[in-house]
Amino acid sequence: MKVLKTTKELTIFLSKESEDNVIAFVPTMGALHDGHISLIKNAKSSSDLVVCSIFVNPTQFNNSTDLEKYPRTIERDIEILEQENCDILYLPEVSDLYSENEKSKHFDFNGLDNFMEGAGRKGHFDGVATIVEKLFRIVNPDKAFFGEKDLQQLQIIRHITKQLNLEIEIIGVPTKREISGLAMSSRNKRLSETNLQKANLINETLHFIKENSSRYSPEELKQLSIHKFNNQSELKLEYLEIVSLENLHPITEFKERGNNAACIAASISGVRLIDNIIF
Ligand code: AMP
Repeated sequence: MKVLKTTKELTIFLSKESEDNVIAFVPTMGALHDGHISLIKNAKSSSDLVVCSIFVNPTQFNNSTDLEKYPRTIERDIEILEQENCDILYLPEVSDLYSENEKSKHFDFNGLDNFMEGAGRKGHFDGVATIVEKLFRIVNPDKAFFGEKDLQQLQIIRHITKQLNLEIEIIGVPTKREISGLAMSSRNKRLSETNLQKANLINETLHFIKENSSRYSPEELKQLSIHKFNNQSELKLEYLEIVSLENLHPITEFKERGNNAACIAASISGVRLIDNIIF
């Protein structure tokens, strides 16, 4: 695997490779786990050359301690990517992608950011879109792979890719889960065994909503689900929304099969977890 640390090196390398090869791109912030590996495997199986980036993007963090505390395990990440036969790791410094004091660009997400992560984390998606646009313009891939785990992010990236007229196919990859059903996340490492078990309520509730969607309305299911969270005290629910997959707005009636999603954010002992189910 080639490790390229500057935009210049990457651009020179890709200018020779991009003509005859299908290039797949997997952007990450590192601290790689099986969820990221699943993206790499998907990218490998449908391209000639896989570029993975590891960059902890400062503009998408609302809070500087969160940014400082973000896990960085670069040596292990390199080993993992080598095992997966990733072709290129792009590992830029902040100064390579942002000029001094540069802020996020403002995007129009057509309301996709009105609820859930967009409502609770002001400016987060402008930061995400700013870095994704920069990376897309540098790597110029044919395809880019993102996890369904971050569903709102995935839909927003699909939207800006169209808005910016970029000819990149955006591919959503199903969420990789622990045997218990808990969505894999670099934050799971910060949870004790007991809290890992308690966090399963998130996934159980998502399944409860999916399985009962022909019996109850979205609002009834929302109330029943909130009740499950209120019956315990450790896992604190931040939001639970049942939305249309198309615009990510809460729904009062279910859409056709495959066009609904239930999304949850909850925290336990200071660790914030998100998950969703599409049905
Ligand atoms: P991150 O490093 O957290 O920015 O994530 C990089 C990519 O990995 C994003 O597209 C995430 O949606 C995706 N991802 C994170 N966790 C999972 C998971 N458990 N299953 C599938 N994809 C994931």
